[in-house]
Amino acid sequence: MNIGIIGLGYVGLITGVGFASLGNKVIGVDIDNNKINKINTGETPIYEQGLEEKLKEVNDNFRATTNINDLKDSEIIFVCVGTPSKEDGSIDLKYVRRAAEDISKILGSYRVIVIKSTVIPGTTESLIKILEKNDKKVGEDFGLAMNPEFLKEGSSLKDFFEPDRIVIGSYDEKSKEILAELYKDFNCPKLFANIKTAEMIKYASNSFLGTKISFINEIGNICKKLGIDVYAIAEGIGYDKRIGREFLNAGIGFGGSCFPKDIKALIAKSNEIGHEPKLLQEIIKINEKQPLKKIEFLKKHIPNLKGKEIGILGLAFKPETDDVRESRAIPIVKELLKEEVIIKAYDPKAIGNFKKLFPQIKYCSPEEILNSEAILILTNWKEFENLDYRKNIVIDGRGILKAKEAKIYEGICW
Ligand code: NAD
Repeated sequence: MNIGIIGLGYVGLITGVGFASLGNKVIGVDIDNNKINKINTGETPIYEQGLEEKLKEVNDNFRATTNINDLKDSEIIFVCVGTPSKEDGSIDLKYVRRAAEDISKILGSYRVIVIKSTVIPGTTESLIKILEKNDKKVGEDFGLAMNPEFLKEGSSLKDFFEPDRIVIGSYDEKSKEILAELYKDFNCPKLFANIKTAEMIKYASNSFLGTKISFINEIGNICKKLGIDVYAIAEGIGYDKRIGREFLNAGIGFGGSCFPKDIKALIAKSNEIGHEPKLLQEIIKINEKQPLKKIEFLKKHIPNLKGKEIGILGLAFKPETDDVRESRAIPIVKELLKEEVIIKAYDPKAIGNFKKLFPQIKYCSPEEILNSEAILILTNWKEFENLDYRKNIVIDGRGILKAKEAKIYEGICW
């Protein structure tokens, strides 16, 4: 099939490369010239395991451009642009609307417009007015669908080829049939629904995952005071099939470009329609307090932090990615800077992105970090299991086993 992708970030690039490797002809559009140039020379603008190799492999089937007119022959157009938070937490739809404007100008013969960006229920259908601007009618001249994305950064290519499920919300029968055909070889449950339901499944999914993390952090904070290791608790409850062990790794909370913004967007929408979402509000509150526990425990061992050299291991919001959006390292670094600490930081992949936010801190090797007065572990990269912490004060936010050998060891909630 001829597929167009609008927005070549984490989701768009993986979706494009994924469908290209399955034999489709894919053209990806982005407004960022640098990104396009990189992609067309076989370089990936993001770090994602296996992506660079895959991009080279699909050379004949995948092309990137800044020109939306190149999507004139696309039978399916996936919209994968960002949907960030506004100041008040509600969803900012300006990129999605702009993409719909662009699409409205190139509509010709029937094609399906698929919103893959995470959008609050009601958004996809609200785009119809924009898409119909040039006398084209939804359900007749073009189809409309919503196909939420569930990939996890760090394993997103694998998640593309082996998803847990595929959700397709469609406006018209023809869109549903075309998407069912596109996904026919994917061996997983497929759920067909209306558009609003598909939109809501994504929010419920991310809210539930955030709930699991804030829940175990709450339990962990109690455990810490009681002298209990919360990881033993996670194991003990995780064997219960109704609970499951995944997403019960207590620590300094969740970050990334999705959970915080999506839960906040659902809170904002919920308030707007007259329901106060108390549980969701608490999930965010717990998550915002959790990283600050690092400073509390650090001060237990070094009460006056001014002028002290503190090392940070891990800047990405999770391992195997270079993404630092909403990383828990951000509030921690801000707090340490307020205390006039000399910060030395290391991350295997995310230094470049973190430097854009905090150019004033020192970036160095893990060996240099080991010479700091104390070390904060913020991301559970595998390589942190191979360091020798025996001479250090370590405040561990991610349960690194080797760090337990430290001279002074403090777990965040264990
Ligand atoms: P991103 O910020 O990495 O990428 C968005 C891209 O869209 C950027 O490259 C930007 O330049 C481009 N863009 C913006 N407006 C455009 C336009 N009019 N035309 C062409 N390109 C345009 O975002 P992302 O992380 O890929 O997320 C995209 C969407 O998918 C969001 O709604 C997000 O919530 C959702 N999502 C993300 C993930 C994830 O792990 N990153 C997972 C599931 C769902």
